[in-house]
Amino acid sequence: MFIAHLPAGYLATRAMACRLDVPRGLRGRLMAFGLVCSVLPDADLLWFYLVDNRQTEHHDYVTHWPLFWIALAALAAALPWGRTRRTAHAFIVTGLICLLLHMALDSFAAAIYWLRPLSDVHVNAVTVPARFDWWVWNFVLHWTFAIEIAICLAAVAVAGSQGRRTAG
Ligand SMILES: [Zn+2]
Repeated sequence: MFIAHLPAGYLATRAMACRLDVPRGLRGRLMAFGLVCSVLPDADLLWFYLVDNRQTEHHDYVTHWPLFWIALAALAAALPWGRTRRTAHAFIVTGLICLLLHMALDSFAAAIYWLRPLSDVHVNAVTVPARFDWWVWNFVLHWTFAIEIAICLAAVAVAGSQGRRTAG
């Protein structure tokens, strides 16, 4: 996925903010946290380009292992949050959902190892053929990109309806 992670994170965080017990004053921070988590796994591109010299497919890094994020979220949830426990857990759950959504979307056209380090079983729903010299065109001109555009349009529609409700 190229452009749908952020709008998908927006939609997921909006849905979570309605369902979780987050004080109104913190909903902006929850949205910011959800958006960051929705793209956080791709921070490994810095390692991919700057350190690893593009030797390893970046979806192979631990930052694209769902079990890594689930374990991290479980550790964070187990911390002694005291009176802020409910809010902290709302942030942790929202962040984890955005992270897992990232991997679910990546599973469309890339191999994601959902059970690593326990197993090398991976999900890659669609194989995008390498038809163009510049790899980006292979994805942008593939039918799976229509799904990304649909997610973007859905996020714009939801944000627009929220704006009208706020203004009205
Ligand atoms: Zn990714």
